[in-house]
Amino acid sequence: MTRASCDTPPQDLLEYWLGELDEERSLRVEEHVFACAACTQRLAAIVDLGAAIRAELLRGAFSFVTSAPFIRRIKEAGWQVREYDLAAGGSVACTVTRDDDFVVSYLRAPLRDVRRLDVLIDDTTSGKHRANDVAFDPEAGTLASVTSTAYLKTLGHSQQRVRLVAVDGVEERVIADYTFNHSPS
Ligand SMILES: [Zn+2]
Repeated sequence: MTRASCDTPPQDLLEYWLGELDEERSLRVEEHVFACAACTQRLAAIVDLGAAIRAELLRGAFSFVTSAPFIRRIKEAGWQVREYDLAAGGSVACTVTRDDDFVVSYLRAPLRDVRRLDVLIDDTTSGKHRANDVAFDPEAGTLASVTSTAYLKTLGHSQQRVRLVAVDGVEERVIADYTFNHSPS
């Protein structure tokens, strides 16, 4: 599907849905969405994120974990999605452009015997983060994570290392490491 033709920044729709716009801008977006088929479709895809989306998507250095069907839906709705696919232990030279609405990373890993999965981030720009007990599909063997586009667009050259850790009681086992070498575009 081609990109929906509307000049409204998709970011406005995200912020509208997250309730982050002031009353006046919020009303303006709302009126526009009623009249614009492209934005109605984009907003519907965002609403589908449900509980998965959080304000960190706009501000945070991470990210949330999502599913392949969701990403398909986002693309069908006309959002522009940049995708990176990494094997366990892999690294990638990545970027973000003005036109990207979402940046998705598929982290390949053996997850079948994992009960609890934690994600550790070490980012030369924003420091260390840890997300505990993230949702994942053991059979898919892939963790799909969406990184804050707003954050990525502020980045200069930066390196982010991501580590997947299986947690079982007090035991922790490293599953795989990934490296993102980011350059601005
Ligand atoms: Zn529109």
